Amino acid sequence: MSVIAIDGPAASGKSSVSRRLAKRLGFVYVNSGTMYRAITWEVLRQGVDTTSPAAVAAALDGADIHCGIGDNSESFIHINSAAPDAALRDSRVNLHVSLISAVPAVRELISARLRLLAGDRNVVMEGRDIGSAVFPETPFKFYLDASPEIRRKRRADEGQSDAIEARDKMDSSRKAAPLKIAGDARVVDTSHLTLEGVVEAILDILRQLGITPR
Ligand code: C5P
Repeated sequence: MSVIAIDGPAASGKSSVSRRLAKRLGFVYVNSGTMYRAITWEVLRQGVDTTSPAAVAAALDGADIHCGIGDNSESFIHINSAAPDAALRDSRVNLHVSLISAVPAVRELISARLRLLAGDRNVVMEGRDIGSAVFPETPFKFYLDASPEIRRKRRADEGQSDAIEARDKMDSSRKAAPLKIAGDARVVDTSHLTLEGVVEAILDILRQLGITPR
C-alpha cells in the first residue's frame, strides 16, 4: 500500500492534480477537504454554536457518518444517509470550515476515517495535514503552492465566494495539525504550470522513487 500525500493552501491546484494523478497511476483518489466540508455542513444544519468546540463535538456524536470509496475510485462521505455534495462549496461552508476543522475532536474523527479508507489501498490523498499528521510515515509527500494573486483568480474564475487567505491563515495557525510543509515534502509551485505540467512534475519524482504510471 502506498499513500501519496498532496497538501497545500486553498486553490493551489490540489484537487485537479490529485484526481488526475490518481487516474494516471490507477490509485484511489481521496479528498479530505470534502470530509471537513461535510462535517461543517452537518454542524451548520444542526444549528449548533460553531464557536463552541464542545457543542461541535456533541453534534457529531449523534451523527451517522459513512466514508467510503465509490465505483469511480473516489472517496465519498454520507451523513445520516445524505450526500451533501452539492452544498459543500456554499459560501456558508467556506466561511465556517476552518473554524470547525480546528476542533480536535473533528480532526481525530476525520483522520481516523482517512486511515481506515486508505487501509491497504494505493491512494492519492489531498488535504492540509496528510503528509505532516495523517500519514507522516509516507515517503511520497508533496506540497503544492501558488502565488496569492493566482490562487484568488482561480477561485474567482470558478465563481466562488471564498476568502482563501483568511482560511489559509486559520488553517496555518490552529493548534491541532496545522497546514504546514512537512520536513520531507517536495514543494511544487503551480503558479505558472498547466495541470498536466504539475502532474508530470510529480510523476517524474515518483518514478525516481519507484512508482510508475500503469
Ligand atoms: O481542500 P478544501 O479547500 O476543500 O478544504 C476545506 C477546508 O477543510 C480547509 O480550509 C481546512 O480548514 C479543512 N481541511 C483540513 N485538513 C485537511 C483538509 C481540509 O483542516 N486535511
